[in-house]
Amino acid sequence: MPKYDYDLFVIGAGSGGVRSGRMAAQKGKKVAVAEESKPGGTCVVRGCVPKKYLVYGAEFGASIKAAQKYGWSLDNVKFDWAALRDSIQDEVNRLSGIYSDVLERNGATLYSERAEFVDAHTVRLTTSGKEVTAKNILIAVGGRPWMPDIKGGEHAIMSDDAFLLDELPESILIIGGGYIASEFAGIFAGMGVKTVQAYRGDALLNGFDDEVRGYAGEHQKLLGIDVRYNISPTEIKKTKGGYIVTFDDGSKIGTDLVFMATGRKAHTPDLGLENAGVKVDKNGAVIVDKYSQTSAKNIYAVGDVTDRVNLTPVAIREGMAFVETLYGEEKDAYDHSDIASAVFTRPPIGVVGMSEAEARKEHGDKITVYTTSFRPMKNILADKQDKCFMKLITQGKKERVIGIHIVGDDSPEIIQALGICVKAGLTKADFDRTCAVHPTLAEEIVTLKAKS
Ligand code: NDP
Repeated sequence: MPKYDYDLFVIGAGSGGVRSGRMAAQKGKKVAVAEESKPGGTCVVRGCVPKKYLVYGAEFGASIKAAQKYGWSLDNVKFDWAALRDSIQDEVNRLSGIYSDVLERNGATLYSERAEFVDAHTVRLTTSGKEVTAKNILIAVGGRPWMPDIKGGEHAIMSDDAFLLDELPESILIIGGGYIASEFAGIFAGMGVKTVQAYRGDALLNGFDDEVRGYAGEHQKLLGIDVRYNISPTEIKKTKGGYIVTFDDGSKIGTDLVFMATGRKAHTPDLGLENAGVKVDKNGAVIVDKYSQTSAKNIYAVGDVTDRVNLTPVAIREGMAFVETLYGEEKDAYDHSDIASAVFTRPPIGVVGMSEAEARKEHGDKITVYTTSFRPMKNILADKQDKCFMKLITQGKKERVIGIHIVGDDSPEIIQALGICVKAGLTKADFDRTCAVHPTLAEEIVTLKAKS
């Protein structure tokens, strides 16, 4: 009789949990996964995937306008929010079904209910009340949108709600200057909603390269977004037709809908972590070592719940390393350096490696910075004013490339390939030796000259 019901119990069927559960099952382990919502997690159900569809939806509006400069004449063009929302939800449901199938096809058991810790080897499934035991437990419960505690905060929506709106408002006020605020401002503005983005700092996308932040702000304005800086909300008041938001400088903004995009937090409240001896940090994120092992030796955690680098592909890589550590021949720690990533603003942003400020802090004057900025060919004919910006940062005499930043159409696609170059430690000379592909936007990255 085995000591435990399962070899591995995974809490959370998002990107990290499903990959870990599937791989452990493929290695012959007896695996169960619990999920309180739809399988697929934030990325599939209320994040990356539906968000990208909304970005596509918003871009079609701009493309239709630009198409007229390319000889097309279009009459009676209309946008139907409900049609887009519903087709996105159909796709979300299809993908969520694939996530369940993948687990079951590989022999893992899926419990469609919430799980909480009873002790380090036992979880209680909260709907059925059933208790199950496992030798190892993986916490992969992700994060949830978070907002500051302000008066009237209950009137605001957060990112989870934005995908399911009954109808588009005429106007929206988005609070925040990060990924979600900046991406959704571009989405709503593109769908014809009068959009204000209010941020407490003086440049959007804190943590990104300063010049990239400057372009991000300019591009929001070109989309018609009214970006207000250096203000933080203190109160949201419901009025007859909408809301009035008061800010810490005394200013007020009236709007039909308030969207708080002020960050996310690990979804650990009420998980019973204290029953299992799992320690969390001051923000509630599970503390792990480089092997994703928690303070309880048989319990591991991957993905946003650990608040390391909160991106889907990172959760997947952490999950794969975890399975290798537990069931492979050698322990495996995922290397979090030089992760390429993208912000799906309009135009989008692709980044890998250090910002100029980070590079200067670490390497002083031993860096060289190359930049260019230009209006892409497609925009010139379409009479669009947004610019493409590129920055490449190298370090030392050999000029190893340590940072690349691109603002412009297709930059998320381009940065994926450039991520390989940075990870491989290529030098500026390697870039210079590479022949350009003409006429493209990406060719500029192999013809950059040093900033004078
Ligand atoms: P971010 O941390 O990116 O942004 C949060 C924003 O809210 C910041 O501008 C922050 O200001 C502001 N803020 C925080 N607290 C307050 C407050 N009390 N009052 C006013 N403003 C406040 O979080 P997001 O929710 O946008 O995204 C969460 C994470 O999800 C990201 O960090 C990213 O890892 C991931 N994500 C990735 C995407 C992608 O890869 N394309 C897309 C969406 C999300 P300040 O900057 O001053 O701290």
